[in-house]
Amino acid sequence: MGKRVVVLGSGFAGQTAALNLRKHLKKTDEVIVVTPNKKFGYVPSWVWVGVGQMDVKETQFDLEPVYKKLGIKYINGLAKGIHVDENYVFVELNGGGTEKVEYDYIINATGPRLNYAATPGLGPDHGHTVSICTPSHAAETGEEYLKMVERMERGEEVRMLIGTGHGMATCQGAAYEYIHNIAFDLDERGLLDKAKITWLSNEHSLGDFGVGGMVIGKGGYTVSGKIFAEASFMERGIHWITGAHVTKIEKNKASYITIDSAEERIQEFDFAMLIPAFAGVQIKYVKKDGTDITSELCVPNGMLKVDADYTSAARGFDNWKKADWPTTYQNPKYPNLFAAGISFAPPHPISKPFASPNGTPIVASPPRTGMAAGIIGHVVALSIADMINGKSTKPTHTASMGDFGAACIASMGKSMTRGSAAVIAMFPVVPDYERFEYGRDMDATFGDQGLAGHWLKALLHHLFIYKMKGNFGWSLIPD
Ligand SMILES: Cc1cc2nc3c(=O)[nH]c(=O)nc-3n(C[C@H](O)[C@H](O)[C@H](O)COP(=O)(O)OP(=O)(O)OC[C@H]3O[C@@H](n4cnc5c(N)ncnc54)[C@H](O)[C@@H]3O)c2cc1C
Repeated sequence: MGKRVVVLGSGFAGQTAALNLRKHLKKTDEVIVVTPNKKFGYVPSWVWVGVGQMDVKETQFDLEPVYKKLGIKYINGLAKGIHVDENYVFVELNGGGTEKVEYDYIINATGPRLNYAATPGLGPDHGHTVSICTPSHAAETGEEYLKMVERMERGEEVRMLIGTGHGMATCQGAAYEYIHNIAFDLDERGLLDKAKITWLSNEHSLGDFGVGGMVIGKGGYTVSGKIFAEASFMERGIHWITGAHVTKIEKNKASYITIDSAEERIQEFDFAMLIPAFAGVQIKYVKKDGTDITSELCVPNGMLKVDADYTSAARGFDNWKKADWPTTYQNPKYPNLFAAGISFAPPHPISKPFASPNGTPIVASPPRTGMAAGIIGHVVALSIADMINGKSTKPTHTASMGDFGAACIASMGKSMTRGSAAVIAMFPVVPDYERFEYGRDMDATFGDQGLAGHWLKALLHHLFIYKMKGNFGWSLIPD
């Protein structure tokens, strides 16, 4: 009898895992994806949706026909509880009703819970800010943005605030792309002088991006990423406030404290897109006797513990090592339970943690970009396939953020003739000061910006949608 692998989530991590499982398992083995989504969403292009430059439909495709074609079973619903002794996941079906889905192996690839509630007044649903973190939010944000454009066209001045909405937020890269796309678009419309654009972020300094910043090779020089980021802001007249924790949002008003001062300051705005803190999706882990062991298996924000060294956080920044980071993404207590993508709990930040004088932690949390999510989903799938195929009883494939690099193409403006993107490569993601003077290999860490970067970004949109559909030759396209 075949085995059954259940993948929770159909984002970069879940979709990559499901495709690879189907490729490497026998026909008699089952691959099941449980996801609340009917469509896959190519998240990086939501930045363009949020400035009204792309219809959200261009970033999506229907999942059902893809799974049908590939022989993957699709359950459209929300996982609510993983019953770790009895090996089933309790699912609330979108069409109504519930289902107990049994598994031999399970991958939690449920991504982040957008924790708007951690900052009073944040977010589009119960607050006063917009978002580009879901397809519907990005589409609404695009419309809101175009209303601001109309106001500027009428001669009004508009205050725009972009960045992070919490002291522990991550995903600064997406906000960085968004602010630059706004500045580019307004420049193209001849309206840049009508906007006061401000960056508000928890990063200790510009260019930190939750990876402790970087030193990059550029045009034969070695440059700090901080200078690179500052130059890009100065070129477009963007102001910046860093080291900030947003304490609350009211209509047209953001209150924040900083690393230097616990006294609340106010930034007024007409339009604000601030990324929330991320937490783990609310899934309960339950033992056979009904005991809820979620707090044992997860860190306090609900992300799943894997094979990282979670005691390392207490050692402090100066003693953090790449060995603290997970390699197999297997849960230490339940070997048939894995986490891939944003859902795994990092052992500690990568950037140096700071706090406000009143003790509020302010640190850009570690990013797990789409590329990292794909790489992790891939190795987890290969390990599970090897274990099912009898090649090993332990995970056979590893990928540590201390061992793999990242290539990031940050859009700075969408136009095939005048657009640009910053192309940044770094190796490894988690700096290794034992091996490299600046923590990263300078031969593999570089950055540049230009029109060719935009073409690459536009090409990736089509390439990844092609890959995620499992089309012919999909596995040749890198994660
Ligand atoms: C606007 C924006 C732009 C970005 N740009 C880039 C970029 O240019 N490059 C890059 O590398 N990264 C980028 N990122 C980051 C990248 O999108 C994420 O790293 C990536 O999406 C994480 O993948 P994931 O699979 O872990 O999570 P997600 O993509 O969030 O997928 C999680 C999946 O789990 C599902 N799910 C949630 N709860 C449940 C549940 N209870 N049961 C079952 N399924 C569930 C979700 O519906 C979803 O399908 C960007 C992020 C944003 C917000």
